[in-house]
Amino acid sequence: MLFATAKSQTSPGQEFLPGDRLAVLLPLPLAGAYDYRVGADQRLAPGDFVRVPLAGRQAIGVVWGPSCGEIAAEKCRAVVERLPLPPLPAPSRQLIDWVAAYTLAPPGAVLKMAMSVPAALEGPPRQASAYITGMPPAGLKMTPARQRVLAAAGQPLAAAELARRAGVGVAVVKGLVDAGALLRVPAPGPAPVASPDWRQPGPVLSDGQAEAAAALRRRVGDGFSVSLLEGVTGSGKTEVYFEAIAEALAADRQVLVLLPEIALSAQWLDRFRQRFGAPPVEWHSELGAAARRDGWRAVGEGRAQVVVGARSALFLPFPALGLIVVDEEHDASFKQEEGVVYHGRDMAVVRARLGAIPIVLASATPSLETQANVVAGRYHHLHLPNRHGGAQLPTVELIDLRRYPPSRQSWLSPRLVEAVTATLAAGEQSLLFLNRRGYAPLTLCRRCGYRLQCPHCTAWLVDHRLGVGSARLQCHHCGYLSPRPSVCPACQEQDSFAACGPGVERLAEELTARFPEARIAVMASDTLTSPRAARELVGRMTDRDIDLLVGTQVVAKGHHFPLLTLVGVVDADLGLAGGDLRAAERTFQLLSQVAGRAGRAAHPGQVLLQTYQPEDRVMVALAAGDAERFYAAEAEDRRAAGMPPFGKLAALIVSGPDAEAVDRVAAQLARLAPHDPQIEVWGPAPAALSLLRGQHRRRLLLKTARRVSVQSVLRHWLAQIRPPNSVRIQIDVDPYSFV
Ligand code: ADP
Ligand code: ZN
Repeated sequence: MLFATAKSQTSPGQEFLPGDRLAVLLPLPLAGAYDYRVGADQRLAPGDFVRVPLAGRQAIGVVWGPSCGEIAAEKCRAVVERLPLPPLPAPSRQLIDWVAAYTLAPPGAVLKMAMSVPAALEGPPRQASAYITGMPPAGLKMTPARQRVLAAAGQPLAAAELARRAGVGVAVVKGLVDAGALLRVPAPGPAPVASPDWRQPGPVLSDGQAEAAAALRRRVGDGFSVSLLEGVTGSGKTEVYFEAIAEALAADRQVLVLLPEIALSAQWLDRFRQRFGAPPVEWHSELGAAARRDGWRAVGEGRAQVVVGARSALFLPFPALGLIVVDEEHDASFKQEEGVVYHGRDMAVVRARLGAIPIVLASATPSLETQANVVAGRYHHLHLPNRHGGAQLPTVELIDLRRYPPSRQSWLSPRLVEAVTATLAAGEQSLLFLNRRGYAPLTLCRRCGYRLQCPHCTAWLVDHRLGVGSARLQCHHCGYLSPRPSVCPACQEQDSFAACGPGVERLAEELTARFPEARIAVMASDTLTSPRAARELVGRMTDRDIDLLVGTQVVAKGHHFPLLTLVGVVDADLGLAGGDLRAAERTFQLLSQVAGRAGRAAHPGQVLLQTYQPEDRVMVALAAGDAERFYAAEAEDRRAAGMPPFGKLAALIVSGPDAEAVDRVAAQLARLAPHDPQIEVWGPAPAALSLLRGQHRRRLLLKTARRVSVQSVLRHWLAQIRPPNSVRIQIDVDPYSFV
């Protein structure tokens, strides 16, 4: 019955008639496609959403193609019904097959991401009724309950909703309907989706911008292509890709824009609305249930023209997608690390190819992967070398903390304090950047040195004093919370715990002490409780209600603060520690992006980087503004080591609650490892997070030459081993996380 490798059939016009066998893919993590029989009076086609019987209940799945099983049609169970929904389009189905094959995830688990909104599939009940207050008939017996219902029914509402709002039982509503005091009307559909208007004029583009925009416009409607739109922060990349969006809209095609940290990108949404006169449809995890249902349906029915979303938006059922934009394409948050482990940017390129449409990758600091594709001639390259309107890039200066250390219990060197003082005096704004949430990353006992650790993870508990839940010690990996203990569990000393090292909250404390008259705000993912809070804070910043902004990486992304002229990076070396494959690249990208917040308008900007390693390649490149040299050296190292993008990696993470069982499976994997001159296997080794959420973890790393199919190596390898149920082997093709 089970065919794990069923491929969605896409021959156009294919139809299944009563009695035919077909394969239906169900959104279940363990399943390939199952065989069913087309019921009497049904006509089905690939992509149709269907309700089918499954182990004593019913489930919704998608017609995937003809069955390839052996079971006679009579023995298969019949499809219950076709749902009244547009079919899942062919490129979406092909994407699901592709992602499953590439990541080695079960196709059903990938389909689950495309069917993440069950309410959208079920839809409103057909011929739903609503009720509205009519003229009360003479002699109607009035009660307080009835009065409340009539008062609430000023707009059409379903009976259950009306009863809920009036605080009465449904029988009261029914009684009023029978008495003729409530009128039955059709239920209103979802709110209409506003149409972005491509006819609205954009800004007058500079020559360089106009050239890039024209190139992108030409590629819309001209089949598959990938364009890297590279330009320093503030060069107008957004304005340029807006032109491509206008072109796609004019051709009546849908557009998908992927952004990192979408929920926080209020400024992007404002700009879009200004340019096109209507908001895009948003798609991210912060959306409420109704917005998700309406959004999913609006996309599937083609009513949503522009969707801006997080990586999961890739799996929305676009029937007429004509353009994809991935902004900040280098951003690590496009990689999904849980469940189906995939890279949103890479899969977006696959989606574009399957749909024969163009994709634009925008970044000031493109990933080495994308740059290698440009060099190989696979991607087009468009370059905007200058900031718009003559704004200058900020000057970057390194502060050598070995020579100019901060004073005791301070995190700011004298040079940085002096610069903040001068900026305040000039009436301009400063950003102090520290990519570490909370008050302090470590809490230890002053008497015996005992460190407070998460009971479920290999991680210190982080001291938090602001934000959600206020004062607490928190594990950043599993969310474990604990109050600060008053007695050390190791030496029983009273009140002996001391905070070690700075987080943004502690930095804000130092700034408050040093600059008592300054208006200071902290911006970190846990101090921003909602998209609205983020929008408010950004608004206060642009309105000059804040003098000193202290922030983590959430401030680095996309914001445009015209009066921000000083950026101080408190610990520029932070991302270099740990030394994973991309540590240098990521640090360079993040710090370039942070630096890019300075001096974006008329006032020139200044960036100060506090570092203990001023001779490190990353610091030298940032100070010299020489991205090219940095990337060239970085690429050369990777090439010499056969590392991505010049070789391939896949990680195998073995985990389970029982350390010994995990070790046994890891050792067995190592014994069965493939032998081939083009393949290296490292490990098993305890993961850096050797305990995560109570699971013991071991890692193996597979490294191969580019021409090797990592997937077939892995499939062959894993086929030889049957781990016990308590042990899980997670596969991460193209890993970005090495903990
Ligand atoms: P990037 O995306 O490359 O960081 P943006 O598109 O955000 O750059 O542009 C930076 C700022 O300059 C924005 O405020 C934008 O509105 C403005 N800008 C860019 N190009 C133009 C233009 N041609 N005319 C007017 N304003 C522009
Ligand atoms: Zn934990």
